[in-house]
Amino acid sequence: MIERVRIREELLEYLLELARDFYPNEFAGFLREKGGVFEEVLIAPGGHFGRTSAFFNTWMLPLDEEIKGTVHSHPDHVCSPSPQDLWFFSKFGGVHLIICYPYSAADVVAYDSEGNPLEIDVVP
Ligand SMILES: [Zn+2]
Repeated sequence: MIERVRIREELLEYLLELARDFYPNEFAGFLREKGGVFEEVLIAPGGHFGRTSAFFNTWMLPLDEEIKGTVHSHPDHVCSPSPQDLWFFSKFGGVHLIICYPYSAADVVAYDSEGNPLEIDVVP
């Protein structure tokens, strides 16, 4: 069972920047892990995960083995997963970050594939 998420500090800062840049729209991406730490993001076109099954199908197929999670932003101060988010998390597995407005380091919440919150360890 996953209880903690380890993420590189530079990546976390970059994700916060992306969330601000995309505001008032949402951004979504896949997180690539190396040695147990999330190190890279691959931005997904078209915004939010799980809004349409077409989006989901397009993006589930080409994933590489190092992709162990997802990230997306919420343009409001709701850091909890929507019903579509939970559906997507359960299909995808892994861990999922939600960054909500105003996109400070305190506005990042990690969830497992069942929607349970996880601790985040920021790795310098
Ligand atoms: Zn969401």
